Amino acid sequence: MDLGIKGRTAIVCAASKGLGKACAMQLAKEGVDVVISARTKADIEATADQIAKATGVKVTPIACDVTTEEGRAMILKACPNPDILINNAGGPPPGDFKDFSLDDWRKAVEWNMITPIALIKATVYGMMDRKFGRIVNITSQSVKAPIASLELSNGARAGLTGAIAVMARRAVKHNVTINNILPGPFETDRLTGSTKKMAEQQGITVEKAMEARKAHVPAGRFGQPEEFGAAAAFLCSSHAGFITGQNLLLDGGIFPGAL
Ligand code: NAP
Repeated sequence: MDLGIKGRTAIVCAASKGLGKACAMQLAKEGVDVVISARTKADIEATADQIAKATGVKVTPIACDVTTEEGRAMILKACPNPDILINNAGGPPPGDFKDFSLDDWRKAVEWNMITPIALIKATVYGMMDRKFGRIVNITSQSVKAPIASLELSNGARAGLTGAIAVMARRAVKHNVTINNILPGPFETDRLTGSTKKMAEQQGITVEKAMEARKAHVPAGRFGQPEEFGAAAAFLCSSHAGFITGQNLLLDGGIFPGAL
C-alpha cells in the first residue's frame, strides 16, 4: 500500500533508538524527509546515517534535549513547517508515590505533557493552513490501565491525552489529525534495561525475567519496534485523514477490555 506521503517532511522526536527510530525509519521508507532528535550527538548522527543510507531521503539529526525550550527551538529551526510530527521523549522513572517529590511530578509533566503540547502548538496551525498534517503522540498502555510504580508516567500521559482531545477534533476539518499510540511492551533498550533491573531485584537471570514478562502478553512475545513504526506511519498516511483523537493500543492483547 502506498501511504501517499512521499516528499513530505516529518519531525520525529527522541529517535536515535527504539520506538522513535522505528517511526523515523518507516516514514523514510515511505519517502518522507525526516528531522530526528536525541540528546546523544554520536547516536543521533549514526542513526541519521543509517536511515539515509537505507532509504535515500534527507535525514537531519539534531542533538538536543526535546524537553527544554532551547531543544525544541533547535528542532523547529531545522524544520519550521513539518507535515508530520511524532512526539516522543524518555519516560519518567518508576518509584513509589510516597517518595515522589513535587519536582518529580513537575518534571514528568514537563517531559510527557508540556513538551508535546508545545510542539503541537508550534506546528498545528501551519498544518491547518496548508491543509495537511499528521501528529502522533507516543504515550503508553498506562493511559488505559495505569501501571503500579509508574505513577509519574500514568499521570502526565493521561494529562496529554485529555489536553489534545478537543484540538484533535477541531483540526480534522483542515485534514490535520492528532492521535496517540499506546505501546505495551516493545523490545527496546528501555524494556531490556528495566527487565535487567527487575532480574537483579528478584535475584533471577535476565532470561527468566524476560520469560516472566512475556508470560503476561497474550501474544506470547514482545512487540517489535518495526511493528510500532508501521502503525505510526499508517496514522501519518494520506489515507488516515478520518482518524483523529484516537488512542491506538499496541499491546499484544494485554488490555482485557472488549472496548
Ligand atoms: P528507548 O529505546 O530507551 O529510546 C529512547 C530514545 O529517546 C533514545 O533515542 C533517547 O536518546 C531519546 N531520548 C530520551 N529522552 C530524550 C530527551 N529528553 N530529548 C531527546 N531525546 C530523548 O525508549 P523506547 O522504548 O523507544 O520508549 C520511547 C517512549 O515510549 C518512552 O517515553 C517510553 O516510556 C514509552 N514506552 C515504551 C514502552 C516500551 O515497551 N518500549 C512501553 C510503554 C511506553 P538519548 O538518550 O540520547 O536522548
